[in-house]
Amino acid sequence: MGNDGGSIPTRRELVKPGDKGPSTADLFQSKTLNHEYLWTVCALSDAPLGPDGVMCDSKGRLYSKKAVLEYLLDQKNHSDDQLNNVDNKNKNNNNNSRSTITSLKDVVELHMGKSTNPNDWICPATQKRVVAEASGTRFVAIIPCGHVFAESAVQELGLEKCLVCDGPVDKQVGLVVLNDGSEENAARVALLEARGLAHNLKPLKKEKKKKKTMKKIKKNNEQMEAVKDSGRVHKSKK
Ligand SMILES: [Zn+2]
Repeated sequence: MGNDGGSIPTRRELVKPGDKGPSTADLFQSKTLNHEYLWTVCALSDAPLGPDGVMCDSKGRLYSKKAVLEYLLDQKNHSDDQLNNVDNKNKNNNNNSRSTITSLKDVVELHMGKSTNPNDWICPATQKRVVAEASGTRFVAIIPCGHVFAESAVQELGLEKCLVCDGPVDKQVGLVVLNDGSEENAARVALLEARGLAHNLKPLKKEKKKKKTMKKIKKNNEQMEAVKDSGRVHKSKK
């Protein structure tokens, strides 16, 4: 019988040579490239991101404000292509789930410190450069004010208030790790849901209320149109 004690396969024999995975150097390289990309390109539209007009969602992904507004205005006409695009781009960043944007409550506009380099931004507390140093430094946004700091600044200074605008810092639900930290961000989302809050810390409204609001807006618009029409009639009578 060949099935003696010596034939038990060792772990080394079981693990195929191709299962080694990427080396640390490979990971570092891809992380560096990935970070630069994630910080400078809109996850929805591929538009370049500048220091202004940038928004983040609850997963810490960055979007051009213009792209988000266009997307929300035109949501019905969008195929899933754009959201798939967001998903694919974030696959390497452990953010491989669906985009979360369904309303303006799901995004917060960011305010990053201006740098002398027009293609980079800085943490106003540590002067760390967001794009250049993102592969070795994590950056967080304070929600809802949107000011961006190196995570170390928030931890070391134990911020109770935003250093830029004096806004409150709720350490449980008021910090989003940008382009990183999928676990922390997911834990925050669970807390937000438990508290009935959206990403921007505003209360989530029930679906029924939303429908009522839409009806109200529609009715208001109809009334406005009616007033306009009657105005036209008056003018034409004169
Ligand atoms: Zn602030």
